[in-house]
Amino acid sequence: MADIFAKQLSPVMRTMTGPGPRPLYQAVEGRDGEALIGGARVVMAACNDYLGLSGDPRVSTAAARAVERYGTSCSGSRLIGGTLPLHEELERAVAAFLGQEAAIVTTTGHQANLALTPLFGGGDVVFSDMANHASLVDAVRAGRAESRRYRHSDMGHLERQLVAADGEAAKMIITDGLFSVEGHVCRLPELAVLARRHGARLVVDGAHDIGLLGAGGRGVAEHFGLMDEVDLCTGTFSKCFGSIGGFLAGPAEVIHFLRYTARSVIFTASMPPASAAAALAALEVIVREPERRTRVFEVARRVRTGLRALGFDTGESLTPIVPVHIGETGMCGRMWQEVLHEGVFTSVVVAPAVAEGHGLIRLSLQATHTDDHIARILGAFAAAGRRLGLIPPQPQAAPH
Ligand code: PMP
Repeated sequence: MADIFAKQLSPVMRTMTGPGPRPLYQAVEGRDGEALIGGARVVMAACNDYLGLSGDPRVSTAAARAVERYGTSCSGSRLIGGTLPLHEELERAVAAFLGQEAAIVTTTGHQANLALTPLFGGGDVVFSDMANHASLVDAVRAGRAESRRYRHSDMGHLERQLVAADGEAAKMIITDGLFSVEGHVCRLPELAVLARRHGARLVVDGAHDIGLLGAGGRGVAEHFGLMDEVDLCTGTFSKCFGSIGGFLAGPAEVIHFLRYTARSVIFTASMPPASAAAALAALEVIVREPERRTRVFEVARRVRTGLRALGFDTGESLTPIVPVHIGETGMCGRMWQEVLHEGVFTSVVVAPAVAEGHGLIRLSLQATHTDDHIARILGAFAAAGRRLGLIPPQPQAAPH
């Protein structure tokens, strides 16, 4: 008879062992674009704190004051005993920021997406991009609606699925706003047209783009000038807001319904006071300091341009998520190690997260990265890439 622990554990263990620093579960002590790993100081390029707010004194002071005032935990769910005036203030601020009627804040962004489930009733049809975040996939799986997954950003495929669906069925299209593996934005203008044409509601997960994209940081909808076309947005405070927590923002009736039906809201403790206060303080900075967005895009542009000049393929991203396409899984692992050896911590994305042979190293850049950090990132990729023969050798200086 198989042992249930041994049966499940063995495949995972095979991939996760080995000496030395590793891309997964590596302990890092990071802040402001740098980190300490086993005592060595490196450039941190695997952190989603795009605006560099988790180390901002205004944000951390707000968190510290909330701890002094309310303690470290609410020890209750939003439903019973775990709602602070701070949560309500944050909800009003998020709704106003995103131009939506109402918002609810949740303990993580993952839970915000899971909170969509009560909207997926029997007979309904949900259309999701195949590259959507796992939490959106889980939300659909947990619901009773029929699920249709269209090929990543393939609007023709989505349209065919919409046409084939029962015309009378209630429909929803769900997409990530900014796809986190390769750093490109969703095709919101086409999605909005298809949603209206087929009477579908459009839901966008702004986890990576709210705070970052659009002149005012309102995300992909503002970037495209389509704020009125998104019916419901979800998001997280764990990236641009330098905190932790999540939110859904949309029509007041929908938010009210979710407050009483979403299991990921009802059956879990609320967002801690420090996190709520940090998110609120970060939102103010996001509104007041567009120069942080300008800086992180400038950092990304310079890193991308430098990597391309070296001979790397950085795909189509125009955002602070910069993929460096490497290929085969083993080579991705070696490149990751070499780049770390040169003093830069990155993330690696390999099969099964992407198709075998399409692995990549991902750089997440921050407004707090300095010109020196940019130079160190490019220097590390140049040295590591040449050692592994991934890019051409350094041109020799012409003899005098
Ligand atoms: N949506 C997307 C697109 C994400 O990338 C993430 C985090 N990786 C989440 C949702 C979940 O956010 P959180 O970390 O706050 O749970």
